[in-house]
Amino acid sequence: MDRNPDGPPSAPSTRQEGAPVLVDTFGRTATDLRVSLTDRCNLRCSYCMPPEGLDWLPKPELLTDDEVVRLVGLAVGELGVTEVRYTGGEPLLRRGLTGIVRRTAALAPRPEISLTTNGIGLARLAGPLADAGLDRVNVSLDTLDPATFKRLAHRDRFADVLAGLEAARAAGLEPVKINAVLMRGINDHEAPALLRFCLERGYRLRFIEQMPLDAQHGWTRDDMITADEILERLSAEFDLAPDAAHDRGSAPAETFVVGGGPETVGVIGSVTRPFCGACDRVRLTADGQVRNCLFATEESNLRDAMRGGAADEEIAERWRKAVRAKRAGHGIDDPSFLQPSRPMSAIGG
Ligand code: SAM
Ligand code: SF4
Repeated sequence: MDRNPDGPPSAPSTRQEGAPVLVDTFGRTATDLRVSLTDRCNLRCSYCMPPEGLDWLPKPELLTDDEVVRLVGLAVGELGVTEVRYTGGEPLLRRGLTGIVRRTAALAPRPEISLTTNGIGLARLAGPLADAGLDRVNVSLDTLDPATFKRLAHRDRFADVLAGLEAARAAGLEPVKINAVLMRGINDHEAPALLRFCLERGYRLRFIEQMPLDAQHGWTRDDMITADEILERLSAEFDLAPDAAHDRGSAPAETFVVGGGPETVGVIGSVTRPFCGACDRVRLTADGQVRNCLFATEESNLRDAMRGGAADEEIAERWRKAVRAKRAGHGIDDPSFLQPSRPMSAIGG
C-alpha cells in the first residue's frame, strides 16, 4: 500500500518536541535513512562495479540483523528518522531481509519502509516482504533489450527483473518505481521506449544521471547522459510539462507530467542539477558506518561503538555529530572533487 509516494512521510512521531535530531550546520535535517544490507550483488552493472566483482566485506564486519534493527530503531525512536530504505549491493541477497523489514515495521513510530533492488528474486519475495510491512519498491531497469541487459549488467537476468516487477505490483508495493541509468552508446536511445513501457504498465519511471561512484573510477563527464539530454530525447516522442502540482521539496527527482497527465516521469540530475541544499538523507553502510553524503570521504563507525558496549545515547550522539559535519554540497563540479573510496555498491544507493 502506498501511503505517501513522494511527499513528506506520514508516520506520527512520538518524539518530544525539540528533541535533538539529525541536523547539520546548514539547517538541513536528515529524516530519510538509507541502509545498505550487503555490498554483494548478483549483477555487475558497468556504472557500478567491474565484471569480476569486488572484494566483498567479510561477514564478521557486517552488521547482524539485530544490530541493523537496533540502529534503525535508534534512528527512528531518538533521531527523527521517518523513512527507511533498504538497499545495497543487492538487498534481496540478504538472508534476513524479511525479518528485518518485519521488525522495522514494528518500531514506534513506524517509519515508511522501502527497498531499492535490481528485482532478481522479487518474484518470490515481493509477497512475503509486503506481508512483513514493506511499503514500496524501486526496481532498477536500464534497458528493454535482453542482449543490452546482458552487455550492461554482465548477467543474463532480464526476464527475472520483469517477473520481479510484475510480482511487486501484484503484491501491492505500489507505485512500483523504476530507476534507469542511461549510458552513451549503450542504452541512451532507449529513453522513450522505457517511458512507454512504464506508462503501459503503471510503473513510475525515474532517470538517474550517472554519478562518479563506480568502483573502476571510469566515470567521465563527457560520457554521462545529462538531465538535459534525457529530457530532449523524451521530448522527441512525448509532451512533457513541469509538474506544477508536485513541489520537488527534498525529493531528488524533478517530475514532469507526460502528455497532459496524470502520469509523470522523473529526472534525477544529481550531477548537473544537484539538490544538496534540500537533502534530507543519511546513510548506514552494511558494516555499520554512518555516511552523511553519498560522496562523503569520512565515516563514523557505529558498529565498533556498539560492539564495544556503547549505550544508545552515546551511539545517538556519534550519529548526530556525523550529520552535523555534512558539507554544503557534493562538489562534483569542483576541480578539487575526490571520488569516495567506497563504491556505490558498498555505500548503499
Ligand atoms: N542493487 C540495487 C539496485 O540496483 O537497485 C540497489 C543498489 S544500487 C547501488 C541503487 C541504485 O543506484 C540503482 O538504481 C542503480 O542504478 C544506481 N546506481 C548505481 N551506480 C550508479 C552510478 N554510478 N550513478 C548513478 N546511479 C547509480
Ligand atoms: Fe548490483 Fe545495483 Fe550495482 Fe547493478 S547497480 S551492480 S544491481 S548493486
